[in-house]
Amino acid sequence: MKKPYDYLIVGAGLYGAVFARQAAQAGKRCLVIDKRDHIAGNIYTYECEGIQVHQYGAHIFHTNNREVWQYISQFAEFNRYTNSPVANYKGEIYNLPFNMNTFNKMWGVITPAQARARIEEQKAAAGITEPKNLEEQAISLVGTDIYEKLIKGYTGKQWGRPCTELPAFIIQRLPVRFTYDNNYFNALFQGIPVGGYTEMVRRLLGDTEVRLREDYLSDKARWDALAEKVVYTGPIDAYFGYRLGALQYRSVRFETETLDMENYQGNAVVNYTDAETPYTRIIEHKHFEFGTQPKTVISREYSAEWKPGDEPYYPVNDQKNGALYAEYKKLADAEPNVLFGGRLGEYKYYDMDRVIEAALAAARSELA
Ligand code: UDP
Repeated sequence: MKKPYDYLIVGAGLYGAVFARQAAQAGKRCLVIDKRDHIAGNIYTYECEGIQVHQYGAHIFHTNNREVWQYISQFAEFNRYTNSPVANYKGEIYNLPFNMNTFNKMWGVITPAQARARIEEQKAAAGITEPKNLEEQAISLVGTDIYEKLIKGYTGKQWGRPCTELPAFIIQRLPVRFTYDNNYFNALFQGIPVGGYTEMVRRLLGDTEVRLREDYLSDKARWDALAEKVVYTGPIDAYFGYRLGALQYRSVRFETETLDMENYQGNAVVNYTDAETPYTRIIEHKHFEFGTQPKTVISREYSAEWKPGDEPYYPVNDQKNGALYAEYKKLADAEPNVLFGGRLGEYKYYDMDRVIEAALAAARSELA
């Protein structure tokens, strides 16, 4: 007997919503469920004082993939926001990512050649040839001064581990430029969806049936009976009842407040890069949309070790967790009629464009 749905999509986040859109378009009957009381997963935004607040941390859409950009632009109009965070190190302000403005403020150098010479000097003094960890990678990219003031404390707070114990690739997310260009990303396309991410996901979901506050794993057999196939975007280890052990995450906690002033910090993102300030950054949400409201909403972001029951945010992509994920992946591959996708389903530090890319690819091969 045919089941009522072709696909049960577990998780109404970006991956689930893109997959649902593609499946619906291919004529499949889909049901999307989510255990939260809202759609959009961690890109969820809500309105407060006329400002879109990013409840689970700031998300800035950026991509080099034209196909992804064209695809997502069908569901939202993107504004011209360009991410240019500033770093506050004990009251000294530096531009990010690391670029000529940063080098000029740090050392007074004027030309790219002077900046490169400074970095080479510091790298040589530290005796680094082959960087083995994040600390060595950082010093070889930008020198000791920038490492000490702008990287060491921030990264240590964000990951709860010293830079000597972290993989070098984390820092490779950040461009190092010898131009006076404060754009955080090297992306062809960038912006924030006008009206918020939640509206964008709502449009992706379109007419697809969505049920909120539904926990798949607590009643798996009943849900499985409803659909021929499952697209699971929750934590992969939870799916298997943590039978091989729990994967680790970094979690984030936000203290959000509304302030009776128009402009608190003059920028959407200010990173506090010293080790002592307990939060990693302050987000002032209105600046993502060039807001002119009389009030403002800010979120202090605290990084925290994740314990079971907390919201998982960042997968910890170290060797131990990578090896454990590989074991879960084998189980996942052997699971009939279930597709695992997204940040939690694939245990990946995923940018939004890569999530869309992956969901489109999965839909393409699945629906072919
Ligand atoms: N980073 C840093 N100092 C900063 C900003 C970033 O050292 O002021 C490094 C740090 O290692 C961090 C990585 O760059 O883990 C990525 O940071 P980002 O804030 O871009 O991560 P997100 O949370 O936005 O994905």
